[in-house]
Amino acid sequence: MEHCVFCRIVRGEIPAYTVYKDDDVTVFLDIYPVDKGHLLVVSNTHYESAEEAPPETAAKVFAVATAFARIYRVRLGAPGVNILTNSGRHAGQEIFHFHVHVIPRWRGGGWRALLARHRLTEDEAREVLGLLEQHLDIVKEYASRV
Ligand code: AMP
Repeated sequence: MEHCVFCRIVRGEIPAYTVYKDDDVTVFLDIYPVDKGHLLVVSNTHYESAEEAPPETAAKVFAVATAFARIYRVRLGAPGVNILTNSGRHAGQEIFHFHVHVIPRWRGGGWRALLARHRLTEDEAREVLGLLEQHLDIVKEYASRV
């Protein structure tokens, strides 16, 4: 998909703070995080949404999302994490390329607080990349098992 924003990030045509990449998935920081460390796990191949992707792709994307949730909760002590995907405009989908949000919840607030976003700063992005880079062993292990 020539003009899809996430396809262009996967191809390296527009910048993103990429945390992890393999043959099937790319993981980068959301530019409007709900909380520090908000990630998007994206399939490298363009599918409009989760149910359009083949099951093995959906499994890989969710496995990698779960690995990052594990890093946040077990290694970095986050008190909560949301793993979620939006399918269709009515469900809040804005980018029509399959992706899963991984949102560590440091401040709480449940569902309601998911709407409060801030613009990602360079300092915040560098901090998150630094925190995550030491824990990618978990992601590689999960990715190798699907
Ligand atoms: P959704 O509503 O599930 O489609 O979410 C799309 C997400 O993509 C939103 O949380 C946006 O903040 C995020 N987003 C949009 N463009 C970019 C971009 N260029 N780099 C990083 N995140 C983006």
